[in-house]
Amino acid sequence: MKAVVLERRGADGVRIGDFPDPARPPGNAVIRVRAAALNHADLYMRDDGRGITHELPMVLGLDAAGEVVEADPDSGLTPGQRVMSYPMEFCGTCPQCQAGEQPWCENLRIIGEQRHGTYGEYLSAKAGCFLPVPDTLDWHQAAALPAAYMTAWRMMFGKAPLLPHETVLIHGVGGGVALACLQMAAMVGARAIVTSGSADKLARAEELGAVAGIDYRDNTVWKAVMDLTQGRGVDMVIDNVGAATWGDSLRAAAWGGRIVTCGTTSGAQPPADLQRVFVRQLRIFGSTAANLAEYRALLRTVAEGRLLPVIDSVHPMDGALEALARMAKAEQFGKIVLDIP
Ligand SMILES: [Zn+2]
Repeated sequence: MKAVVLERRGADGVRIGDFPDPARPPGNAVIRVRAAALNHADLYMRDDGRGITHELPMVLGLDAAGEVVEADPDSGLTPGQRVMSYPMEFCGTCPQCQAGEQPWCENLRIIGEQRHGTYGEYLSAKAGCFLPVPDTLDWHQAAALPAAYMTAWRMMFGKAPLLPHETVLIHGVGGGVALACLQMAAMVGARAIVTSGSADKLARAEELGAVAGIDYRDNTVWKAVMDLTQGRGVDMVIDNVGAATWGDSLRAAAWGGRIVTCGTTSGAQPPADLQRVFVRQLRIFGSTAANLAEYRALLRTVAEGRLLPVIDSVHPMDGALEALARMAKAEQFGKIVLDIP
């Protein structure tokens, strides 16, 4: 098959070309991929990959949507069915899976990280990793949804859920997860304050329901948040930037506020400022991915037409290198999608 393959680490280590078709061991289903979406994890795999055990060469990509080609008769999947991926390939039998927490599976293999990914014409994965595509979504939208939107769902509603009367601060609103969090805040009627270094992105975020946008190039974010909240601070902070924003997150949170972190694109070791954490009794949550129950809840709101993924751009598979470069430069507003012809 044709695929986007990481041959060696680094931007010049990605090749587009032939790769062996995936096998279908018992319990797996194979789909013909019609679209795939980029995630920051792709850049981590491309440039670093530390702590992730998969040999190169490997097919990149966490998200996919496509048609079932082959599946076991008792899998619940039928050939031709439109499905989308659940990137956390889980065993289904360990205690964590039995408890419904697939992201903590003892035998977890994340698609596109610990095993071959979705940027190819065919994808083989355990049948439980494929869910029906809601009728409201086309291929590109279905591919854009899984990793970013499930991650956002768990951050917003899986820890200490955002409530309608609350205010949330969301850093770096161009990225897929941050943008999904903004849409979800608007969906439940909460107030969202967003930050960006782009006036254009801030304007577009306000069109999506943000009550205010802060340009971090010429504002001190936490002070701007205090001005916008009459000195109170926000109930919740969504921080997937890390070192560069953590100080603002701690200072922008109201007394008893909560901070949810799901990524560290700017670094993982900011000063902890424990005095502020305990004096103000802040709550800090780590979050990543989502379990299947959360993913199904997300898909229900999508099927009801209450939430649609924001797509930045669609690139042919041959344009994967340019697509990855666009994400690396943080130029995007929403999800970057690959069309798999
Ligand atoms: Zn398991």
